[in-house]
Amino acid sequence: MDFRLLLLRLLLLLDLLYMAAGLARPPQLQDAHRPSSDSFSRCGSYKPSKANKEASQQLFAAENVAAGGAQTSAQSASLTVNVYVHIIDGEDEAIPQEFVSEQLSVINSNFGPCGIAFNLVGVTHTVNPAWFYVTMDSREEADMKAALRQGGYGDLNIYFAHLQQGMLGWCPFPEPDPTAEDRIMDGCVVSYLYGPGGEAPYNMGRTLTHELGHWFNLYHTFQGGCNGGGDGVDDTPAQASAVYGCPAAAPDSCPDSPGVDPVHNYMGYSDDQCMTEFTQGQMSRMLRSYALFRAGR
Ligand SMILES: [Zn+2]
Repeated sequence: MDFRLLLLRLLLLLDLLYMAAGLARPPQLQDAHRPSSDSFSRCGSYKPSKANKEASQQLFAAENVAAGGAQTSAQSASLTVNVYVHIIDGEDEAIPQEFVSEQLSVINSNFGPCGIAFNLVGVTHTVNPAWFYVTMDSREEADMKAALRQGGYGDLNIYFAHLQQGMLGWCPFPEPDPTAEDRIMDGCVVSYLYGPGGEAPYNMGRTLTHELGHWFNLYHTFQGGCNGGGDGVDDTPAQASAVYGCPAAAPDSCPDSPGVDPVHNYMGYSDDQCMTEFTQGQMSRMLRSYALFRAGR
Protein backbone atom coordinates (compact mmCIF):
# COMPACT_ATOMS: atom_id res chain seq x y z
CA MET A 1 0.00 0.00 0.00
CA ASP A 2 1.51 3.31 -0.98
CA PHE A 3 1.67 6.31 1.32
CA ARG A 4 -1.18 8.17 -0.39
CA LEU A 5 -3.55 5.24 0.02
CA LEU A 6 -2.54 4.86 3.64
CA LEU A 7 -3.23 8.56 4.27
CA LEU A 8 -6.56 8.32 2.45
CA ARG A 9 -7.63 5.37 4.62
CA LEU A 10 -6.57 7.26 7.76
CA LEU A 11 -8.60 10.32 6.75
CA LEU A 12 -11.64 8.19 5.96
CA LEU A 13 -11.33 6.47 9.33
CA LEU A 14 -11.25 9.87 11.02
CA ASP A 15 -14.31 10.83 8.98
CA LEU A 16 -16.17 7.79 10.27
CA LEU A 17 -15.21 8.62 13.84
CA TYR A 18 -16.44 12.18 13.47
CA MET A 19 -19.62 11.01 11.76
CA ALA A 20 -20.23 8.49 14.53
CA ALA A 21 -19.87 11.30 17.06
CA GLY A 22 -22.27 13.44 15.00
CA LEU A 23 -19.64 16.10 14.46
CA ALA A 24 -18.65 18.03 11.39
CA ARG A 25 -15.07 17.55 10.33
CA PRO A 26 -12.92 20.16 12.05
CA PRO A 27 -11.16 22.79 9.93
CA GLN A 28 -7.73 21.21 10.19
CA LEU A 29 -9.06 18.03 8.57
CA GLN A 30 -10.78 19.98 5.83
CA ASP A 31 -7.41 21.53 5.11
CA ALA A 32 -5.97 18.06 4.69
CA HIS A 33 -8.28 17.56 1.69
CA ARG A 34 -7.02 20.48 -0.26
CA PRO A 35 -4.94 19.49 -3.28
CA SER A 36 -1.40 18.59 -2.40
CA SER A 37 1.04 15.93 -3.38
CA ASP A 38 0.09 13.54 -0.62
CA SER A 39 -3.62 13.97 0.04
CA PHE A 40 -6.77 13.61 -2.04
CA SER A 41 -9.15 16.21 -3.35
CA ARG A 42 -12.90 15.89 -3.94
CA CYS A 43 -12.73 18.25 -6.89
CA GLY A 44 -9.97 20.16 -8.60
CA SER A 45 -12.14 22.26 -10.88
CA TYR A 46 -10.57 25.43 -12.06
CA LYS A 47 -11.76 28.65 -10.51
CA PRO A 48 -14.27 30.41 -12.78
CA SER A 49 -12.42 32.81 -15.07
CA LYS A 50 -12.96 36.56 -14.90
CA ALA A 51 -14.92 36.38 -18.16
CA ASN A 52 -17.08 33.56 -16.81
CA LYS A 53 -17.78 35.45 -13.59
CA GLU A 54 -18.74 38.65 -15.41
CA ALA A 55 -21.02 36.85 -17.87
CA SER A 56 -22.51 34.78 -15.06
CA GLN A 57 -23.24 37.88 -12.99
CA GLN A 58 -25.27 39.24 -15.91
CA LEU A 59 -27.06 35.91 -16.15
CA PHE A 60 -27.82 35.91 -12.40
CA ALA A 61 -29.17 39.48 -12.60
CA ALA A 62 -31.35 38.62 -15.61
CA GLU A 63 -32.79 35.63 -13.72
CA ASN A 64 -33.77 37.88 -10.83
CA VAL A 65 -35.42 40.43 -13.12
CA ALA A 66 -37.35 37.88 -15.17
CA ALA A 67 -40.84 37.65 -13.68
CA GLY A 68 -39.63 38.39 -10.19
CA GLY A 69 -37.09 35.61 -10.24
CA ALA A 70 -39.18 32.95 -11.99
CA GLN A 71 -37.04 30.00 -12.99
CA THR A 72 -36.91 27.94 -16.12
CA SER A 73 -38.96 24.90 -15.22
CA ALA A 74 -36.75 21.85 -15.26
CA GLN A 75 -39.76 19.57 -15.40
CA SER A 76 -40.79 21.02 -18.75
CA ALA A 77 -37.25 21.24 -20.12
CA SER A 78 -35.76 18.72 -22.46
CA LEU A 79 -32.08 18.91 -23.21
CA THR A 80 -30.04 16.06 -24.66
CA VAL A 81 -26.28 16.45 -24.59
CA ASN A 82 -24.11 14.35 -26.88
CA VAL A 83 -21.27 12.65 -25.04
CA TYR A 84 -17.87 11.44 -26.20
CA VAL A 85 -16.11 9.19 -23.68
CA HIS A 86 -12.37 8.65 -23.79
CA ILE A 87 -11.02 5.66 -21.88
CA ILE A 88 -7.34 5.95 -21.05
CA ASP A 89 -5.64 2.73 -20.00
CA GLY A 90 -2.20 2.17 -18.52
CA GLU A 91 0.20 -0.49 -19.67
CA ASP A 92 -0.72 -2.96 -16.91
CA GLU A 93 -4.04 -1.56 -15.74
CA ALA A 94 -7.27 -1.24 -17.71
CA ILE A 95 -10.54 0.45 -16.88
CA PRO A 96 -13.30 -2.19 -16.62
CA GLN A 97 -15.43 -2.70 -19.75
CA GLU A 98 -18.74 -2.07 -18.00
CA PHE A 99 -17.54 1.18 -16.43
CA VAL A 100 -18.86 3.52 -19.14
CA SER A 101 -22.41 2.17 -19.22
CA GLU A 102 -22.60 2.21 -15.41
CA GLN A 103 -21.32 5.78 -15.23
CA LEU A 104 -23.68 7.01 -17.97
CA SER A 105 -26.57 5.36 -16.16
CA VAL A 106 -25.67 7.28 -12.98
CA ILE A 107 -25.55 10.70 -14.61
CA ASN A 108 -28.75 10.10 -16.61
CA SER A 109 -30.46 9.20 -13.36
CA ASN A 110 -29.00 12.14 -11.40
CA PHE A 111 -29.79 14.72 -14.13
CA GLY A 112 -33.21 13.26 -15.00
CA PRO A 113 -35.04 15.64 -12.63
CA CYS A 114 -33.28 18.53 -14.40
CA GLY A 115 -34.70 17.53 -17.79
CA ILE A 116 -31.17 16.78 -19.00
CA ALA A 117 -30.21 13.52 -20.73
CA PHE A 118 -26.83 12.30 -21.93
CA ASN A 119 -26.57 10.51 -25.26
CA LEU A 120 -23.40 8.47 -25.73
CA VAL A 121 -22.27 8.90 -29.32
CA GLY A 122 -18.67 7.75 -29.20
CA VAL A 123 -16.12 5.89 -27.08
CA THR A 124 -12.37 5.89 -27.73
CA HIS A 125 -9.80 3.60 -26.09
CA THR A 126 -6.19 4.69 -25.73
CA VAL A 127 -3.28 2.98 -24.00
CA ASN A 128 -0.96 5.71 -22.81
CA PRO A 129 0.73 5.51 -19.37
CA ALA A 130 1.50 9.26 -19.32
CA TRP A 131 -2.13 10.19 -19.97
CA PHE A 132 -3.37 7.42 -17.63
CA TYR A 133 -1.74 9.26 -14.71
CA VAL A 134 -2.71 12.72 -16.00
CA THR A 135 -2.56 15.71 -13.65
CA MET A 136 -4.45 18.97 -13.89
CA ASP A 137 -3.02 21.75 -16.06
CA SER A 138 -0.24 19.47 -17.26
CA ARG A 139 1.32 18.97 -20.68
CA GLU A 140 -0.21 15.49 -20.64
CA GLU A 141 -3.71 16.90 -20.16
CA ALA A 142 -3.24 19.33 -23.06
CA ASP A 143 -1.80 16.61 -25.33
CA MET A 144 -4.55 14.15 -24.42
CA LYS A 145 -7.36 16.60 -25.07
CA ALA A 146 -5.80 17.92 -28.28
CA ALA A 147 -5.57 14.37 -29.62
CA LEU A 148 -8.95 13.03 -28.50
CA ARG A 149 -11.53 15.80 -28.14
CA GLN A 150 -14.54 15.60 -30.46
CA GLY A 151 -17.62 17.68 -31.21
CA GLY A 152 -18.48 21.30 -30.47
CA TYR A 153 -18.68 23.41 -27.33
CA GLY A 154 -22.16 22.04 -26.64
CA ASP A 155 -20.90 18.46 -26.70
CA LEU A 156 -19.49 16.80 -23.60
CA ASN A 157 -16.12 15.05 -23.62
CA ILE A 158 -15.28 12.89 -20.61
CA TYR A 159 -11.84 11.41 -19.97
CA PHE A 160 -11.55 8.49 -17.54
CA ALA A 161 -8.09 7.83 -16.18
CA HIS A 162 -6.18 6.98 -13.00
CA LEU A 163 -5.67 10.45 -11.60
CA GLN A 164 -2.58 11.29 -9.63
CA GLN A 165 -2.28 13.08 -6.30
CA GLY A 166 -5.53 11.62 -5.00
CA MET A 167 -7.60 13.80 -7.34
CA LEU A 168 -11.17 12.65 -7.95
CA GLY A 169 -11.85 14.87 -10.95
CA TRP A 170 -12.02 18.30 -12.52
CA CYS A 171 -14.01 20.08 -15.17
CA PRO A 172 -13.85 23.55 -16.72
CA PHE A 173 -16.62 26.12 -16.44
CA PRO A 174 -18.07 27.42 -19.72
CA GLU A 175 -16.52 30.53 -21.21
CA PRO A 176 -18.72 33.24 -22.76
CA ASP A 177 -16.29 33.66 -25.66
CA PRO A 178 -14.22 30.45 -25.79
CA THR A 179 -10.82 30.58 -27.45
CA ALA A 180 -9.49 27.70 -29.55
CA GLU A 181 -7.56 26.55 -26.48
CA ASP A 182 -10.68 26.77 -24.26
CA ARG A 183 -12.49 24.53 -26.72
CA ILE A 184 -9.73 21.92 -26.66
CA MET A 185 -9.37 22.00 -22.88
CA ASP A 186 -13.13 21.81 -22.29
CA GLY A 187 -14.28 18.44 -20.98
CA CYS A 188 -14.22 16.57 -17.70
CA VAL A 189 -11.40 14.42 -16.39
CA VAL A 190 -12.50 11.89 -13.78
CA SER A 191 -10.69 9.17 -11.88
CA TYR A 192 -12.16 5.74 -12.53
CA LEU A 193 -10.92 4.74 -9.06
CA TYR A 194 -13.80 6.73 -7.56
CA GLY A 195 -16.44 5.86 -10.15
CA PRO A 196 -19.22 3.27 -9.73
CA GLY A 197 -17.96 0.38 -7.64
CA GLY A 198 -14.77 2.24 -6.77
CA GLU A 199 -13.19 3.35 -3.52
CA ALA A 200 -15.72 4.22 -0.80
CA PRO A 201 -17.04 6.72 0.13
CA TYR A 202 -16.78 8.01 -3.45
CA ASN A 203 -18.02 4.87 -5.16
CA MET A 204 -21.43 5.72 -6.61
CA GLY A 205 -20.39 7.67 -9.69
CA ARG A 206 -21.47 11.02 -8.30
CA THR A 207 -18.04 12.61 -8.68
CA LEU A 208 -18.95 12.93 -12.35
CA THR A 209 -22.36 14.37 -11.45
CA HIS A 210 -20.59 17.05 -9.38
CA GLU A 211 -18.07 17.79 -12.12
CA LEU A 212 -20.81 18.07 -14.74
CA GLY A 213 -22.45 20.66 -12.50
CA HIS A 214 -19.35 22.80 -13.11
CA TRP A 215 -19.52 22.09 -16.86
CA PHE A 216 -23.08 23.47 -16.72
CA ASN A 217 -21.78 26.52 -14.80
CA LEU A 218 -22.68 25.64 -11.22
CA TYR A 219 -20.30 26.81 -8.50
CA HIS A 220 -19.71 24.99 -5.21
CA THR A 221 -22.44 25.56 -2.63
CA PHE A 222 -19.78 26.96 -0.29
CA GLN A 223 -18.47 29.43 -2.89
CA GLY A 224 -17.98 32.81 -1.25
CA GLY A 225 -18.62 31.45 2.26
CA CYS A 226 -21.25 33.27 4.34
CA ASN A 227 -20.82 36.63 2.66
CA GLY A 228 -21.70 38.10 -0.71
CA GLY A 229 -23.52 36.30 -3.50
CA GLY A 230 -22.20 32.81 -2.67
CA ASP A 231 -22.86 30.47 -5.57
CA GLY A 232 -25.33 32.94 -7.11
CA VAL A 233 -28.26 30.54 -6.70
CA ASP A 234 -31.05 31.82 -4.48
CA ASP A 235 -32.27 28.52 -3.07
CA THR A 236 -28.94 27.02 -1.97
CA PRO A 237 -28.30 28.15 1.62
CA ALA A 238 -25.04 30.00 2.31
CA GLN A 239 -22.28 27.72 3.59
CA ALA A 240 -19.02 28.80 5.26
CA SER A 241 -16.87 25.97 3.90
CA ALA A 242 -17.04 22.46 2.48
CA VAL A 243 -18.64 19.72 4.56
CA TYR A 244 -17.15 16.23 4.21
CA GLY A 245 -18.61 12.88 5.19
CA CYS A 246 -22.36 12.72 5.69
CA PRO A 247 -23.37 14.36 8.97
CA ALA A 248 -26.66 13.11 10.38
CA ALA A 249 -27.59 16.68 11.28
CA ALA A 250 -26.50 19.32 8.79
CA PRO A 251 -24.42 22.06 10.43
CA ASP A 252 -25.53 25.68 10.20
CA SER A 253 -22.23 27.35 9.40
CA CYS A 254 -23.87 30.67 8.39
CA PRO A 255 -26.42 31.20 11.21
CA ASP A 256 -27.25 34.73 10.03
CA SER A 257 -28.45 33.38 6.66
CA PRO A 258 -31.55 31.22 6.01
CA GLY A 259 -31.22 27.45 6.00
CA VAL A 260 -28.65 24.94 7.16
CA ASP A 261 -25.66 23.76 5.13
CA PRO A 262 -26.87 21.91 1.99
CA VAL A 263 -24.99 18.69 2.74
CA HIS A 264 -27.13 16.66 0.31
CA ASN A 265 -26.41 18.90 -2.65
CA TYR A 266 -24.35 17.48 -5.53
CA MET A 267 -22.27 20.68 -5.58
CA GLY A 268 -20.81 20.18 -2.09
CA TYR A 269 -18.05 17.83 -0.96
CA SER A 270 -20.14 15.21 0.87
CA ASP A 271 -19.74 11.47 0.41
CA ASP A 272 -21.42 10.03 -2.68
CA GLN A 273 -24.24 8.39 -0.71
CA CYS A 274 -25.02 11.77 0.88
CA MET A 275 -25.26 13.72 -2.41
CA THR A 276 -28.76 13.35 -3.75
CA GLU A 277 -30.07 16.61 -5.21
CA PHE A 278 -29.84 19.73 -7.28
CA THR A 279 -32.17 22.57 -6.24
CA GLN A 280 -34.72 24.09 -8.62
CA GLY A 281 -32.50 27.17 -8.80
CA GLN A 282 -29.49 25.09 -9.81
CA MET A 283 -31.51 23.24 -12.44
CA SER A 284 -32.65 26.53 -13.89
CA ARG A 285 -29.08 27.90 -13.80
CA MET A 286 -27.74 24.89 -15.69
CA LEU A 287 -30.36 25.07 -18.42
CA ARG A 288 -29.95 28.81 -18.87
CA SER A 289 -26.17 28.55 -18.85
CA TYR A 290 -26.18 25.79 -21.43
CA ALA A 291 -28.45 27.83 -23.70
CA LEU A 292 -26.28 30.92 -23.28
CA PHE A 293 -22.75 29.49 -23.33
CA ARG A 294 -22.82 26.15 -25.13
CA ALA A 295 -25.84 25.42 -27.32
CA GLY A 296 -24.95 25.39 -31.00
CA ARG A 297 -21.43 26.72 -30.45
ZN1 LIG B 1 -16.22 20.94 -7.62
